[in-house]
This record gives sequence, structure tokens and C-alpha cells, in this order.
Amino acid sequence: MTNAARVGVYICHCGINIAATVDVPAVTEYAARLPGVVVARNYAYMCSDPGQAMIQKDIAEHNLNRIVVASCSPRMHEPTFRAAIAEAGLNPYCLEMANIREQCSWVHPVGYPTTWKSMQLVEAAVAKVTRLEPLQTRQVSITPTAVILGGGIAGMQAALDLADAGFHATLVERESNLGGHAARFYRTFPTQELAGVLVQDLLERVNQHPRIRVMIETEVTDVSGYVGNFRVKVRRNEEFTEIPAGAIIVATGFETFDPHLKPELGYGRYPQVVTTMDFEHAFAGREDSKQPLVVHEGSQQGGNASLAEANDTRMDHQRIQIENPKSIVFIQCVGSRDQSVGCGGNGSSAHSYCSRVCCMVTAKQARLVRETFPDARVTVFYMDVRAFGKGFEEFYDQARQDGILYRRGNPSEIIKRGNSVLVRAEDTLLGEPVEVEADLVVLAVGMRPRPDSEAVAQLLKLSRSSDGFFMEAHPKLRPVDTSMAGVFLAGCCQAPKDIADSISQARAAASAAMIPLMRGQVQVDAATSFIDEELCSGCGQCAEICNFSALSLHPLRGKMTVNAVLCQGCGSCAATCPSKAIMVHQFTLDQVLAQMAALSGWDDVSVALEKVETV
Ligand SMILES: Cc1cc2nc3c(=O)[nH]c(=O)nc-3n(C[C@H](O)[C@H](O)[C@H](O)COP(=O)(O)OP(=O)(O)OC[C@H]3O[C@@H](n4cnc5c(N)ncnc54)[C@H](O)[C@@H]3O)c2cc1C
Repeated sequence: MTNAARVGVYICHCGINIAATVDVPAVTEYAARLPGVVVARNYAYMCSDPGQAMIQKDIAEHNLNRIVVASCSPRMHEPTFRAAIAEAGLNPYCLEMANIREQCSWVHPVGYPTTWKSMQLVEAAVAKVTRLEPLQTRQVSITPTAVILGGGIAGMQAALDLADAGFHATLVERESNLGGHAARFYRTFPTQELAGVLVQDLLERVNQHPRIRVMIETEVTDVSGYVGNFRVKVRRNEEFTEIPAGAIIVATGFETFDPHLKPELGYGRYPQVVTTMDFEHAFAGREDSKQPLVVHEGSQQGGNASLAEANDTRMDHQRIQIENPKSIVFIQCVGSRDQSVGCGGNGSSAHSYCSRVCCMVTAKQARLVRETFPDARVTVFYMDVRAFGKGFEEFYDQARQDGILYRRGNPSEIIKRGNSVLVRAEDTLLGEPVEVEADLVVLAVGMRPRPDSEAVAQLLKLSRSSDGFFMEAHPKLRPVDTSMAGVFLAGCCQAPKDIADSISQARAAASAAMIPLMRGQVQVDAATSFIDEELCSGCGQCAEICNFSALSLHPLRGKMTVNAVLCQGCGSCAATCPSKAIMVHQFTLDQVLAQMAALSGWDDVSVALEKVETV
């Protein structure tokens, strides 16, 4: 125990979130009798201003030097209480939180002894807090520029916002044109605006902006450094350049599902079967509406190649010219909400997620068909229609009023019938098999992660969710941050979304990236790992496991060293080190064992250590 630890314990009712199932006064009484505790109190909302003021007053009046707050998850309010005790003159790292809400009152069934468990958690926190040492945070100056990976609409918007705010931004695009998928659309739902006009507007502003540097046909080969001081190495024509950046925004987008993975639908076998992406290009590629509609199968992939380029490289048997069609069928959810289709090389698992845009893409294209070929019968096969966005339901209603026939059912196969094809399905509302002959079948292919997502994730130390898209730091509270400080997400690389949501997220990512850029300095958390050089053999196992490249071998001393700015304090190194030479501040063996001893009722830390070593 730290000499003369004087501990204050503060137990929160969190309204009825804790107090409804935990006897808070009893826990307070129990805490007051623990060794080292000078004062123990409870309050309705400890995080409120009066709650914080109570702690600050006690620090002054009782000369407290360690604080325990028993309340919610430290993710929620650790920064609040650290700031409060720092204001009262204590080192902010002399705080320990006991999570008696998420780990106790919220999770146990009626009848569970939650009061007893809260007492145990508080006792463990007191045992640990008496062993905590004051730590010093560091300020690191930053490079006030940003790199944006991916020049689709999300990347372009993020670059514009950063540049308009006065920061220099480098937009790195691997293809030869900016614009991403949207550059090859005809009209956009729900407003029916010409996509070309939207994209062109962004493109001109990007190209003319004095603070945006565009690097096309460029790939990132390496990323080193840390928030405020990244170094992004890029390659163009085998020429390497290193770009310094304070923040990085990842806006690498998506690719569409490959319908070859559903051979029963005949894509690649029958020219009459195309995708929504092929169909989008066909409309966008016409110079005027009197030209025949030529659909090129296979244009859904291939990034941003210009339409002319795409058209030139298609072979004749992959094209179909649509003139006076009698019947056109759309099939929704191809490669979405489908457990049966696997990764197809992009590392994602089954496509059980909804791609969010396909229902509206189908409605948009079906209405276009109605306009272009008023005599054609248009049938849409669907599982559910998800028209969740602003103006979407009205858009879908209009599609039905236009005479488009929606039939609930998932087609089982498409077969050839003369010059057309036959779609076989079961109408699940009528409960009967149905066959529809069609001159063209359009598959509403879903979105999936790009095939190089894993490589990008490794470069930037990003996590991916089970569907393979890049994972945000927290789905609700930090939707554009990543687990890597200073790296943010925008657009469909994080999850399927439409243009409006991609733009919103890009603007949010740009704003989040501006926070460190505007401050000019970032504060680095002091709870990082550290090395006991006497125990370290320099074996390097810790460096191998470290996701943040924070460990390296000192060339002269032959011992490992920690880059405290890169270290995120995750503790993988400490768990790996065979000689127990690495620890993480705030989670040292001594501190964690004291917690365990208190929880398990072992007499002291040496018993806990003995038990751990036996295991
Ligand atoms: C058929 C179809 C029709 C659609 N129609 C509509 C519509 O009408 N209205 C609507 O709101 N939404 C529509 N959407 C959704 C829309 O396509 C997306 O919301 C939008 O394209 C997302 O933009 P993005 O910038 O995130 O991704 P993308 O458009 O995919 O752009 C990503 C960019 O990043 C580049 N890139 C990728 N990897 C790297 C790398 N490692 N380094 C550098 N650059 C990289 C790519 O080349 C690309 O230029 C439709 C989607 C589909 C599939």
C-alpha cells in the first residue's frame, strides 16, 4: 500500500439505475470500514456538478490522496472524475472506478445479491487505488495537415471541409478519376437529380481548392507515426513519396456483390441478366434519351474507369441492347441478408446484413424504366421493402402508383426461354409458384467490403467487424473514430449507406479530425506500458504482438523500449512477455493482484500471486 493512502469512496445511485437493486447506503457503510478509507459517501448522481463538488470539498477538508467512484463504466465518466479531482489538486491517475452499474445492477436477475457484489467491487477498487502511482501526461505537437484515402464522394467532401477550415489536405485515390461509384450513376434517389452534376460540383471545388492536393493512381504503401504526427508513404508510377499528416481519414468505399456467387440467377451466362450497377451505367452512358439502351454485363466492378473505357473493353456477347421490352424484372437483396453467400475473397463472412440502398436503387431504376419504356411490364421481387430515409417511403409509393408490380418472393432460378429468360419464384403472399418471362432481369446487388480491406486495415491498424467493413470505435458514441487515435472513417468503407449519409459521415469525420489539428497539440494518455530492463531479455515477442508498433529493440542496450505516444495501453505485451518485464501503468501486477485478492477473499497479494502462478 502507498504510504498513508487516504481514500475517499463515492457511491452513485445513478437515479434508480443502481439504487433500485443495490442497497447503496449499506455499500457506503461497508466501504467506510475498509483499510485506508477516510470518508465514504453516496449521492443520487455523482457525475453531476454537486456530486463532483462533494468529492472536491472532501479532498480539501480530509486531505484525500486517492479516490474511488463506484458508479457506471469508466468509458462513460472516467474523464469527468479525473478532471474533477485534478481541479482539486490531485493527480488525475489517483482515481479508480468500480463499475457497479453495467457489471452489477443492470445485468443480474432478480434475487441476485447485487449489494454483496457491489461491496466486493468497491473493496477491490479500494485495494487497487491504494497502490496507484501518480502519472504525468505528455503534450505532443502536431502537423496541421490531413491525408484522405479514397476520392469518392465521401473522401472529396472530407477534403473540402478540412481545406475550407484552413488545413492542407492530400486526397489519395488509387484509380485514375475521382468520384468513386457515384461518378457512374445516372440519377440519384430520392431527388432524381443527375448524379453527374452532383459529382462534378464536388470535383470542381476539389480541383480548384488551393489547399487540396489530389494524387490519383496512387496507393498507400506504409503508415507510421501516431496521432498528430503520421507519415503516410505513397507510391505512384513506382515513385515513392512520404506525406506528413496530423490526421488520416479513410474513405475507401465499397464494391458491389459479385452475382456469379449465385449461379442459379444466370449472371454471366445469359446477357439478359445484369446488375443494378450495369443498368445505372447504361442510363448514364447514353448521350440522349433517344439512343438505344445498351447494358454491359460486368460493369459493376472496375472502380472508376471512365464510361468510354468501360464500354470499349466489353465484349459483344456481354452487351444487350434494349428496345421496346415487354417485361423487365428486378430482384432485390442479391447478396444482402443472405447467409448462404460467403466472403468471395474480401474476408467478410456471410452477407447477413442489409445493404440499405438496394430497395431505393430498385425503385429508382424501375421508375426510370417506366418513363423510358411506358409499355413494358415491370415486376420487382422483394423480401421486404426498407424505405427508411427522408422522402424514401413517398418515392416507393410513387413507384407502385406508376404501375410497378411488387411481388413478395425470392426467385429460385432463372432459365433461358428463347430470346428472353424465365424467372421462377414463389409468391410468398399468395403462397403459389410464379413464373415471369423477361427481356431483362436486373439484380439489385448489395454492397460489400473492398477486397483490399484487410491490407488497408493492417496498414492503419484498424479493426473490421464480422461483415468485413471497417469498425468504428463505438457504434453510438464514437461512430467516425477508430481504435487508432487520429484515424477516422467516412462513407461506405464503414458500412453500406446512401450518398446523403456518406456525405454526413464525411463531414463528421472532417470535424473530428479538425479537433487535434486545431489544438496544435495532443495530450497523450500516461497509462502506457513500461519496461523493467533488468528482467527484459530483448526477445521481441512483445513487439510481434503489438498492434500499434509501439515496441522496438534498443540497438545499444539490447532491451525493448516503448514509444509512449504510440502505445495505447492495451496490455497485449504484458500478457505476452515471458519474463514479466513489461507492465502497463495502472494495471501493474501488484495492482491487479491486490484487486484479485480482495475479490476472492485471499489473505493477501502473495497468495493471489501463488494462485496465478499455479494456473
Ligand atoms: C447500384 C447503386 C446505385 C446507387 N444509387 C444511389 C442513389 O441513387 N442515391 C444514393 O444516395 N446512393 C446511391 N448509392 C449508394 C452510393 O453509391 C454510395 O453512398 C456512395 O458511392 C459512397 O461513396 P464513398 O465515397 O463512400 O465510396 P465509393 O464511391 O466506393 O468511393 C471510394 C473511393 O475510394 C477509392 N479507393 C478505394 N481503396 C483505396 C485505397 N486503398 N487507396 C486510395 N483510394 C482508394 C476508390 O477507387 C473510390 O474512388 C447506390 C449504390 C449502388 C451500388
